[in-house]
Amino acid sequence: MLPAYSPESYTDFSQPTARRAFEDALALVRSRFGQRYPLVVGDQRIVLDDTFASVNPANPSEVLGYFANGTAEHADQALRAATDAFRTWQYASAQERARYLLRAAAEMRRRKHEFSAALVYEVGKSWAEADADTAEAIDFFEYYARQMLRLADSDHLLTAYPPEQLNLQYIPLGVGAIIPPWNFANAILSGMTSAALVTGNTVVLKPAEQSPLLGWMVAELFWEQHLPAGVLNFITGPGEVVGARMVESPLTRFVSFTGSRSVGVGIYEKAARVQPGQKWLKRAILEMGGKDAVLVDETADLELAAQGIVASAFGFQGQKCSAGSRAILVDSVYERVVERVVSLTQTLSVGSTAAGPEVYMGPVIDQEAYDKIRGYIEIGAQEGKLLTGGHVIETETNGYFIPPTVFGDVLETARIAQEEIFGPVLACMRARDFDDALRIANGTEYGLTGAVYSRSRERLEQARREFHVGNLYFNRKCTGALVGIHPFGGFNMSGTDSKAGGPDYLLLFTQAKSIAERL
Ligand code: NAD
Repeated sequence: MLPAYSPESYTDFSQPTARRAFEDALALVRSRFGQRYPLVVGDQRIVLDDTFASVNPANPSEVLGYFANGTAEHADQALRAATDAFRTWQYASAQERARYLLRAAAEMRRRKHEFSAALVYEVGKSWAEADADTAEAIDFFEYYARQMLRLADSDHLLTAYPPEQLNLQYIPLGVGAIIPPWNFANAILSGMTSAALVTGNTVVLKPAEQSPLLGWMVAELFWEQHLPAGVLNFITGPGEVVGARMVESPLTRFVSFTGSRSVGVGIYEKAARVQPGQKWLKRAILEMGGKDAVLVDETADLELAAQGIVASAFGFQGQKCSAGSRAILVDSVYERVVERVVSLTQTLSVGSTAAGPEVYMGPVIDQEAYDKIRGYIEIGAQEGKLLTGGHVIETETNGYFIPPTVFGDVLETARIAQEEIFGPVLACMRARDFDDALRIANGTEYGLTGAVYSRSRERLEQARREFHVGNLYFNRKCTGALVGIHPFGGFNMSGTDSKAGGPDYLLLFTQAKSIAERL
């Protein structure tokens, strides 16, 4: 008997005890800096001399850990181990599989701040963002465990046919390649991995190069629950080597990927090619980028809208696929909203998030992201009017800090209005009226999230019909989807709309078997 699912509550860091507990967790994570981590394939730990470092983006001279530079051969080895383990794991009962997730949830809850502290150091999350990321990981475990138990009991969905006894089983697919991004280094990685495992698949997990420590911590959490060897294999290394091999191998039955549009499209094409010896058509679950918009009309609560725009654009430095990187404002309120957005943006603090919960924005993830975002700021200065931010932040630690940056009077055709920047850069755009705002909002190749601020019932209903995004929000920000509450995933080039954290998600990791026995 399980209590009903409800999302994990967030930590109140204004409480001195919570603050102290988090500081202790930061110290604990720091005390492990510089360790070396192996690949884990079946029951073997493979230590390599060839390693890469996971560094603190607020201070890149600090090394969180050294991770093995795996090769295509290691990927093959891991896929073989997963294939062997699948022979038995596929028959573990749904109850047994669900229990692994429930135990992982309980343990992660006990060590919540430790996981969040690792997020602060490894990807530069603020305390609140890190706390939410860990809460979401716990939510995925709790939610998918319950969803699997529901799926395991599907016979009643069929129409009774008395001459036969009927049975509908959602059986696993086989070996999955799990390829997550770094930006929700705990939540997305935990969600993708646990969904595959609870449905009876075995996996090879390859965390993003920027956040292998979180991947290790999650994998270790499962191994500590005595998950059988080979069910969850862990390999690190370059995505274009290790990840590419995982996608191409004939042993792989499905790919679960979350990341950029360009890598996702490449995986889609490669996974479609049937390799010699391959006995199935691979399934590809691909969640990709966004160019999400917040719309405001003249009937809206403009203060609420400005706050929503700023939170959507700059939470976690704008490095969310759901980040609201476009504010589309009807002409009559454009000046007022933009003025308020700029003044709210100027109150945001930027710095090392390890310093305390007051720091709102940390660094961007790495030098490559820093250069890319700075490049877009230069492009933006040509395409629009720089209203705030845009300057270079020098620090003694050489952290990858970029100030929250707002451009005004950006045209819908501008590159900063069309391309995913994945950083703290907001493009404010003027629309003639609400129809025009909706047209501009739908005018990119993406379709992930969107928000509308309006008090007009008619316009909200129009947006409900016409705003073509997977996650649409009214009178609230366009980030912060909750597991089980806002099933998450987008349209068009935002991906396959898998709706993570929703009631249909686990079906993607299964195939249905219909069995009839004549009585
Ligand atoms: P990325 O595409 O660079 O990397 C994602 C993963 O793919 C990493 O694990 C990487 O190692 C791996 N990879 C890279 N090249 C590969 C290859 N050739 N073959 C196989 N695997 C390969 O993305 P990122 O920078 O880690 O994440 C940011 C992106 O993710 C943004 O575009 C963001 O919008 C998107 N994202 C989407 C969602 C969603 O739900 N739609 C959620 C979070 C992030």
